[in-house]
Amino acid sequence: MQENIITRFAPSPTGYLHIGGLRTALYNYLYARKNKGKFLLRIEDTDLKRNSKEATKAIIEAFKWCKLDYDGEIVYQSERFDIYKQYIQKLLDEGKAYYCYMSKEELEELRLKQEKAKERPRYDGRYRDFKGTPPKGIEPVVRIKAPLSGEIVFNDGIKGEVKFKVEDILDDFIIARSDGTPTYNFTVVIDDALMGVNNVIRGDDHLSNTPKQIILYEALNFKIPKFFHVAMIHGEDGKKLSKRHGATDVMEYKSMGMLPQALLNFLVRLGWGHKDDEIFSIEELKELFDPYHISKSASSYSFKKLEWLNTHYIKTLSYDELNFELKSLDFDFDDINKGNFLLNLLRERAKNLFDIINGAKSIIELPKDYDKVAVQKFITEKNLEFLAKFCEELKDQNSAKDFEEFTNEFLQKYELKLKDLAQPLRIALTGNAVSPSIFEVLEFLGVNECKKRIKAFLEKRK
Ligand code: GLU
Repeated sequence: MQENIITRFAPSPTGYLHIGGLRTALYNYLYARKNKGKFLLRIEDTDLKRNSKEATKAIIEAFKWCKLDYDGEIVYQSERFDIYKQYIQKLLDEGKAYYCYMSKEELEELRLKQEKAKERPRYDGRYRDFKGTPPKGIEPVVRIKAPLSGEIVFNDGIKGEVKFKVEDILDDFIIARSDGTPTYNFTVVIDDALMGVNNVIRGDDHLSNTPKQIILYEALNFKIPKFFHVAMIHGEDGKKLSKRHGATDVMEYKSMGMLPQALLNFLVRLGWGHKDDEIFSIEELKELFDPYHISKSASSYSFKKLEWLNTHYIKTLSYDELNFELKSLDFDFDDINKGNFLLNLLRERAKNLFDIINGAKSIIELPKDYDKVAVQKFITEKNLEFLAKFCEELKDQNSAKDFEEFTNEFLQKYELKLKDLAQPLRIALTGNAVSPSIFEVLEFLGVNECKKRIKAFLEKRK
């Protein structure tokens, strides 16, 4: 029987949530949800100098925005120093770890010697079997007794068999600093084991930590989880993704008017696929996602693709879902029916939520001023006259279609073309020349409001 899948996301709160981090979180989330397992969130905040509460808040906020729910309480490493201490003591008691009293000067001396001999800098094990009296005035570090030769081998769910030669990468590395605080690899292992994490999906920038962690799992008699190391996201130029390529902060995408549904769909495809499909709802992903099918090679970021997905989701989400996302940008329609009428109108051409918000505002709100370029381009003495006439003759209609018929009759009567009227009318009603179908706008505003706006515009042109 398959074990209950328990995954986690374990960010170090140093700033904002990076989109690469969100992709890692998403993969862990999906794998757990697909298997009705658990997805845990652990904040790796032991580095009190580099970590901040604000950064933790930013991560949680990004999770909320993306609707990634985690199971149980968030685990904070900064609250678990006692637990780490216990396990360090256990390893010391069992002779699997030891105190090392090397001074800074001695370490430096060793490093220089190894550099000269063109050897890999590594601890030489001088306190590994030390039985004498400790030198005075030195607060010791604690080192793990790592194997001295051989190989560390594991079967990565993405990369296949991964082998490390002990001689090439390992030494008796430090698990507790001289002030007693545990080191990074140690806390990760303790927490993953105690939290029951049995599947670790993370960026392959962590691959070189894995052999060290395996040594610790073995020393502690903990079961080693299944590892999946995901290749990094690159920019289109093949270089590691950075701000040069586009925003890396998840919440910046929110401020660009991107939908979380689009961002998650975009991120899941950076490294994973199913047939040739591009569009995946979260519900579908919870069925289909499989970390064993994550690609071995790096994937490449494309803003165009994200925008394309955003356009798709703007067109296809339900009104409720769209309204929910608009609210999170502090935009709310007073009248839900009128709001949905506008959504229907505006979403056809919107690339992001601000296209909807700005479009809606320009229709709902009385124009404060009129787009100068549009006025210059489309307003002439002649069409101001037509506009005035149109205003005079305009009668209430039932629908956009009726407004269209009315307008066509008007145009015929005066032998005009639509272009003589449509743009000036748009400008008068909304302040600019880019509103959606003018007949829909007429229907939305109603005859009285339209007349009021046209009159106000004409008044200003006098
Ligand atoms: N805290 C690490 C990071 O933010 C992740 C640790 C892990 O996934 O094992 O990069």
